[in-house]
Amino acid sequence: MIPMPESHSDLLGVLCARLGAKNVIVEPTEMEGYLVEERKLYRGTALAVVRPGSTDEVAFVVRECAAANVAVVPQGGNTGLVGGGIPHRGIVLSLARLDRIREVNAFNATITVEAGCILKTVQDAAREVDCIFPLSLASEGSCRIGGNISTNAGGVNVLRYGNTRDLVLGLEVVLADGRIWNGLKGLRKDNTGYDLKNLFIGSEGTLGIITAAVLKLFPQPKTQVVAFVGCASPHAALEVFETLRQTMGDELTAFEFMPRFALEIVLKHAPGAVRPLSGDHAAYALIEFSSPELDLREQVEKALGVAFESGAIEDATIAASEAQNAALWHLRESLSDVQGLEGGSIKHDVSVPVSDVADFIVIASKACEEALPGVRVCAFGHFGDGNIHFNLTQPVDMEKSLFLAQWERFNRIVHDIVHGMNGSISAEHGVGLIKRDELARYKDPVALDLMKTLKRALDPQNILNPGKVVALEGDLPPALPVARKT
Ligand code: FAD
Ligand code: ZN
Repeated sequence: MIPMPESHSDLLGVLCARLGAKNVIVEPTEMEGYLVEERKLYRGTALAVVRPGSTDEVAFVVRECAAANVAVVPQGGNTGLVGGGIPHRGIVLSLARLDRIREVNAFNATITVEAGCILKTVQDAAREVDCIFPLSLASEGSCRIGGNISTNAGGVNVLRYGNTRDLVLGLEVVLADGRIWNGLKGLRKDNTGYDLKNLFIGSEGTLGIITAAVLKLFPQPKTQVVAFVGCASPHAALEVFETLRQTMGDELTAFEFMPRFALEIVLKHAPGAVRPLSGDHAAYALIEFSSPELDLREQVEKALGVAFESGAIEDATIAASEAQNAALWHLRESLSDVQGLEGGSIKHDVSVPVSDVADFIVIASKACEEALPGVRVCAFGHFGDGNIHFNLTQPVDMEKSLFLAQWERFNRIVHDIVHGMNGSISAEHGVGLIKRDELARYKDPVALDLMKTLKRALDPQNILNPGKVVALEGDLPPALPVARKT
């Protein structure tokens, strides 16, 4: 690696001249929000935060940084959960000013947006032409579409519409040498060689900087029905899922799992949370159905009735209004926030084949409870995708720091079980820094080698988000969180 000079005043001067001084931030207090990650697990350092306003300006910044051998860390809304957007050297390149919607084409069912568009803005623009852009995450009011694409974000609608990867038709990308690849085609079919866009999707800013995208739109459903069911176990919940998938097909659009502990802490801490069922159950599922038809409710009642008859459902409620829909979703969406109020939390974002998701929850919960009596398992999430946020809340009477010191120990227990089930140690949040060394442990060595080959080919100077996802020779540590506050 070429040594970097102490000061980069020449580079910053050139960037100021092109972008204007107000778009090259060096003042520490103004940089703060770009240097600390959402969960406060990582704090970074940077020469500057640079805010280009167009694709050409992004290309200019990358070219100048490449010439000065300065690292470039792209950042969208900085809502990422794996330390991927936090710089440990070089500059932060914020895409926030590239926030134009370039085109909405209802006939082709496509929308062309710049990378800095907030996800909610994209959803709203789709609704204006009576369509939906179905990507939906709790962070949708602040995450940006370039960040969603770079992390291949998941969320609550993957069951019906797929991950972000399935929603992207074309990309515009600034490469590590500053060239612009214009792949902004809205084609449904295109077999002209390698599928380059899929290289950049999910690459977490390590292969190129996404500046714009053509996304798929879908018809707006006419009806949505939300139900909340109580079951005796994760296995019973899986039986409910299977019954509903058989009877409702594509109209089953979300199936989110919550154990008793998760619902109890939501009811305890979340403002406005109301107990959805009168009794007490070991496992709960929030289920959403969507349809282009208007008479969905009757079908849902029938389908839930089948699961009730078989004993898989112990109790259920179906929301009778938009307000009740929202109240049930509020229970699920509050979960991320309320966990911190119960003390330290060790988090895993994993997936297994859907058929094994109940086994996984039971086996991993038992292993963790045996490893640390009193630990409270909060295993929730996208059950229908086989994706569980397998979080562990500290025992009530334990010192928080002592619990968080066991992070690696629990990673090993949980990830070994996931690996044994042919699952993934990162289902939707990505690798970033927090899972970089775990990836090296579990990823197929040939796949890891191919990833490094691609990285070296597309970014031979290793200036794009260095040290993230895969570690190359000369990359700085730190892979482990520098502060664990959640
Ligand atoms: P950032 O955090 O800014 O960046 C994320 C990564 O992408 C970094 O590595 C960064 O370098 C890179 N990057 C950003 N923009 C670009 C670009 N234009 N070109 C190249 N690289 C880029 N995630 C899910 O998948 N599903 C969920 O359900 C979900 N729920 C969440 C709920 C909450 C409350 C929070 C805080 C987060 C949640 N997340 C979820 C995580 C996060 O919101 C997603 O990863 C999101 O896609 C990140 O978008 P961002 O704009 O904030 O990206
Ligand atoms: Zn999630």
